[in-house]
Amino acid sequence: MKLLGKKAWITGASSGIGQAAARLLAAEGADLVISARRDDRLQQLADEIRLLGRKVIVATADVSDRQAMQKVGEIIASQDGVDILINNAGTMPISPIINGRVDEWEQMIDTNIKGVLYAIHAVYPGMAERKQGHIVNISSVAARLTYPSAGVYAGTKHAVRAISDTLRKEAIRYGVRVTDIQPGAVDTELPDSIVHDKIRAAVKENMYAEGMSNLQPEDIANAILYALTQPPRVDVSELLIRPLVQE
Ligand code: NDP
Repeated sequence: MKLLGKKAWITGASSGIGQAAARLLAAEGADLVISARRDDRLQQLADEIRLLGRKVIVATADVSDRQAMQKVGEIIASQDGVDILINNAGTMPISPIINGRVDEWEQMIDTNIKGVLYAIHAVYPGMAERKQGHIVNISSVAARLTYPSAGVYAGTKHAVRAISDTLRKEAIRYGVRVTDIQPGAVDTELPDSIVHDKIRAAVKENMYAEGMSNLQPEDIANAILYALTQPPRVDVSELLIRPLVQE
């Protein structure tokens, strides 16, 4: 087991990539703190993880709620911190900018940027003090590219990539590693977060088009594990992973 004795906090663990990462990291021996808003899903996952013989804390929280994230940080600090943060929670209610769906823009900014920062703030100072840790941020291929209708989403993911690379440089002196993982299309519930009916239908049609073999959440979990298990001298700064058929 490659992560025996390690403790990891995974945000957005109630579905998709976060859930797959929780299963893989636990199978590799890590004890976990799992977060998301859907407590019932987290409790089910926690039962599964306990069956693997691992310890798990369910920290149900909205990542865009600063106070709630601070509380999760305090719970983690009371358990002597974590070695790993998988900053994965995210949402994608995309639409053309002309539609002016300001509430949805704010939701993406609050979840995808502020949420990532709140989680970093909750555990990074402790990692820096202990002079070891690994922060893995899940951005997107949209951290490098832009797509019509996805301006704000791509903006949030460009921000995550910029924050990751800056943090990587700052964290070297504290022995903390930082990785930004940029998935292409992965089969998850993410398109369900699109509120704009036509765009949601179009994205689903495109994602599930004939011949489109998307990534599976486990593919990204494997990439996370790869980044986490390199020798201490190695920093996997960025990983861009697309389905073979995605241009
Ligand atoms: P899912 O929709 O399956 O998972 C998203 C997770 O984030 C859920 O666990 C959800 O839990 C959680 N989440 C969303 N909003 C909040 C919130 N405000 N507070 C706490 N948790 C929240 O999608 P994915 O697994 O695909 O998404 C994971 C990450 O991967 C996201 O950052 C996404 O942008 C990124 N990504 C996904 C790609 C894809 O094609 N699927 C491609 C590129 C990047 P809950 O609703 O219970 O709170």
